Amino acid sequence: SPAPDVGRLGRHLAGGEVSARTRQADQGEENTVAGSKIVVVGSANADLVLDIDHRPAAGETVLGSDLVVTPGGKGANQAVAAGRLGGDVAFVGCVGEDAYGGMLRRSLADAGVDVTHLRAVDAPSGNAIILITPDGENSIIVSPAANRHVSVEAVEKVRPAWAGAAVVVLQLEVPLETVVHVATEAASAGARVIVNAAPAAALPPEVLAVADPLVVNESEADFLLGQAPETTAAPETTARALLGLGARSVVLTLGGDGAAYHERDGSGGHVPARKVTAVDTTGAGDAFVGALAVELADGADLRSAVELATAVAGIAVGRRGAQASYPDRSEVAR
Ligand code: ATP
Repeated sequence: SPAPDVGRLGRHLAGGEVSARTRQADQGEENTVAGSKIVVVGSANADLVLDIDHRPAAGETVLGSDLVVTPGGKGANQAVAAGRLGGDVAFVGCVGEDAYGGMLRRSLADAGVDVTHLRAVDAPSGNAIILITPDGENSIIVSPAANRHVSVEAVEKVRPAWAGAAVVVLQLEVPLETVVHVATEAASAGARVIVNAAPAAALPPEVLAVADPLVVNESEADFLLGQAPETTAAPETTARALLGLGARSVVLTLGGDGAAYHERDGSGGHVPARKVTAVDTTGAGDAFVGALAVELADGADLRSAVELATAVAGIAVGRRGAQASYPDRSEVAR
């Protein structure tokens, strides 16, 4: 009979190690083997994209373009970005037993992400309905659906998959109690925890205390700092203020202005964005976080990681789509 799917790591290991892993899986101990270096615990959504002339008012019906369906969700995007850069990455999350779930699983696997712990649950896959108007602005409705099943109980069942990781990546499209649990437990086990506080939500102090770095864009920073939107503080000042909330380090993304970072030892700085013609910024922040994870897992310092992340996100904004726009390592090098 065929060997159980042991994931990307298993497929890439030398023959002997594969058999050890397979043997354990045969014995029902699949989760006791060492997992990937980078583990993303988070959301996967099918992005349902429609171009419209104007947003419908209450009671109004408008005609839109042909529907375009692409793989998305912050967690899955970040895992795909990391996988495409050659990172040793696994994804922990949930999709539905539907066509969208299959598409999301394939996209992750095609990027080299270990999907052993992507569970199919009895719920629809998560969706993001994205309406784009001619001015380029978008309105998004997210239906979390299967992502609600990424519960504390569910992640505990696959604890060995993330507790031994070098880097654990979290965002806020799955239940907050799961984020709190994984962040604190993974940090106690010695993992470096990257917390992307998106979409904006209040973060408990115990999550901030292990965030290394806390990654936010400007509006998420305003939210966490309780300040009016578009407060005109210098980015370095905002990054320092975020550090004051208790994070171990902070990265503030600044769209076309690049990113600022700050660390507990007082070091910090600004990395300018690549000069590119922005075609579609969807998923740029996720490309940034995925690249950051790969570099930090490889032992880079925060500045070098922000430099690579800025280069990767700069390439991603030059093409349409989220996951479809993410580069591989050779393109970044070029
Ligand atoms: P999104 O929600 O669009 O995925 P975000 O709001 O989370 O993104 P941004 O700060 O807008 O995050 O962008 C993330 C990173 O993408 C930036 O730090 C930068 O490196 C890159 N980037 C975004 N916009 C541009 C641009 N116009 N030109 C070059 N790089 C860009």
